[in-house]
Amino acid sequence: MIERVSMRLNIFVLSLFLSFLCVTVALEVSAQSNTTQFPPVKGRETLNAVLWMQTSAEYRANALQAYRSATAQLPSLLAKSGSAAFEQATTDAKILARLPPAIILDLDETVLDNSYPQARIVQDGADFEEVVWGRWMQEATATLIPGAREFLQAAVEAGINIFYISNRSCSSLSDNCITKAATLRNLIKLKLPFAEAPDHVLLRNERPEWATRSKSARRAWVAERYRIVALVGDDLQDFVDRDIYEPRRAELETRFGVSWFILPNAMYGSWDRALTESKSGNEALSQKYQQLQTSPTR
Ligand SMILES: [Mg+2]
Repeated sequence: MIERVSMRLNIFVLSLFLSFLCVTVALEVSAQSNTTQFPPVKGRETLNAVLWMQTSAEYRANALQAYRSATAQLPSLLAKSGSAAFEQATTDAKILARLPPAIILDLDETVLDNSYPQARIVQDGADFEEVVWGRWMQEATATLIPGAREFLQAAVEAGINIFYISNRSCSSLSDNCITKAATLRNLIKLKLPFAEAPDHVLLRNERPEWATRSKSARRAWVAERYRIVALVGDDLQDFVDRDIYEPRRAELETRFGVSWFILPNAMYGSWDRALTESKSGNEALSQKYQQLQTSPTR
């Protein structure tokens, strides 16, 4: 009898030990597979920026603040003379006074929220690819940046014309620009003012002289027809070319909050390209690390 009890006890202890061993091995395997599930660094580089835009109260408050301060400035922008555009700086005051007022806005991350394809890139551990971006534009499902609709409505009610200048690019100079068709489709879906007026949406490559990322030639096209009372964007290039801005920063930055209104975008932009120049991959990453300032130098 005693022997039988002892044998049962041994079997019980042995099975307990084996169970413990199984759990330990399972946890070890699970920990290892969790480690390997993380995407490579290139995908994770914009993780915080994308989540900040998509989830934080702070991003939303920043966007609302930019658009509400622009709305508050509308009466004084209409009342005073002059232009918000560098391209109109030398235009005669009498000519300017005869032109109808207009506001130029950028589209991506200014009016349209494209954080979704950015989130896909993070999730896939991928680099930005034109083909992914092209597919996203064809979906025409970008949502609105907070505050954009209310600002646009206020501007239209004040009798101001709206122009959208975007670096979304037509692939050829033909009349059949599928990017433009998809962009208009998205703007119409969102019921934005001037969305049904193709001349009010100016894309890169739509004309031979609009082939560059600089928006200056397209602002100049609007400036021949309208007095530009305000500019709205998320990138310095939406206001003035970077090489003009840098040497005249002290003078030009006084326009922000007065006739230039900027939205936050930590995901991408000409600021990012300026850090990495034309480099990519690890070379670009290494160049970024070299530009970190670990003590106050300016
Ligand atoms: Mg933009």
